[in-house]
Amino acid sequence: MFLRLVFLGPPGAGKGTIAQRLAESHGLRQISTGDLLREEAAKGTLLGKKVKAIMEAGLYVDDKTVAALVENKLGELGNEKGFILDGFPRTQAQAEMLGGIMKRLGLRLNAALDIEARDETLVERLGGRRSCSKCGKVYHVRNIPPKEEGKCDSCGGQLLQREDDKPRVVKMRLETYRKKTAPLIEYYREKGLLKVIDANGGIGENMANAEKALKELQ
Ligand code: ADP
Ligand code: ZN
Repeated sequence: MFLRLVFLGPPGAGKGTIAQRLAESHGLRQISTGDLLREEAAKGTLLGKKVKAIMEAGLYVDDKTVAALVENKLGELGNEKGFILDGFPRTQAQAEMLGGIMKRLGLRLNAALDIEARDETLVERLGGRRSCSKCGKVYHVRNIPPKEEGKCDSCGGQLLQREDDKPRVVKMRLETYRKKTAPLIEYYREKGLLKVIDANGGIGENMANAEKALKELQ
């Protein structure tokens, strides 16, 4: 089945990690707007520089820019594959733009998964998070350590802490999320698409909760 999913949830809940693993086990494409924007930032283009400054302030990039990136990716994908939109939409306007994109592509969303964890958990996870500078794979110094410290298991790339995982920015990201994205939980609940995933536990437990929610869709 070609599942087409949206992932909501605060920074640090483990959206990216869960999306990565579900995408692998179900043959879905993971489309992370955070990764797409970091790629753009790394290019150092005019847009990239703007994006970098916004991300490092813990704010959101403007809706049209992000929606255009997503529409391109989904267009490339064609109709032959399911996908997980990891970190999109994050605002009411983006949710409406996604509705338009899906309509143009003749596709339908199967569900919105809201990955939830308590605030203390979020802060602890973001502080310990490291990601591969080459392939983007995500680790945690205690919870998901690489086999060799500082080095990616998959590609050997160097593991780094994201600029926006530093404490001051984390606080701002949580505020931005509460204000702009949390209302989407109701938006998707009203459409009958919402599934809430408890992600307070260890990675095994969280994955089991996510898999269970997907089973209910099939
Ligand atoms: P997290 O979900 O933990 O905040 P991401 O890597 O998904 O981390 O996103 C990092 C940053 O990228 C966000 O703080 C924001 O600045 C930007 N970003 C990602 N997705 C979007 C989006 N859909 N709309 C606006 N900005 C986004
Ligand atoms: Zn890697």
